[in-house]
Amino acid sequence: MCYILYTLHKCNHWVAQPQPGNGPILRICSDAETLRLGRPCPETEHRVENRSQGLCDGCMWNGITK
Ligand SMILES: [Zn+2]
Ligand SMILES: [Zn+2]
Repeated sequence: MCYILYTLHKCNHWVAQPQPGNGPILRICSDAETLRLGRPCPETEHRVENRSQGLCDGCMWNGITK
C-alpha cells in the first residue's frame, strides 16, 4: 500500500513530510510501481515516521500571533 510519512509533533499534529527534491508527499510502494505502472494504490497508509519535541508550524505561528 502506498503511504505518506508524517512527523508527530508535541501538539499532537501530524505533518506530512515532503520527499527530498520536492517530490510528491505520497510514497509509491513497490506494488504500485510494478503492478500499476507507478499509479498509487486507492488506499493510502498514514505512518508516523518520527516524533518531534517541538510544535508544528501552524501552532508555532499561532503562538506568535497570540
Ligand atoms: Zn501502494
Ligand atoms: Zn500543532
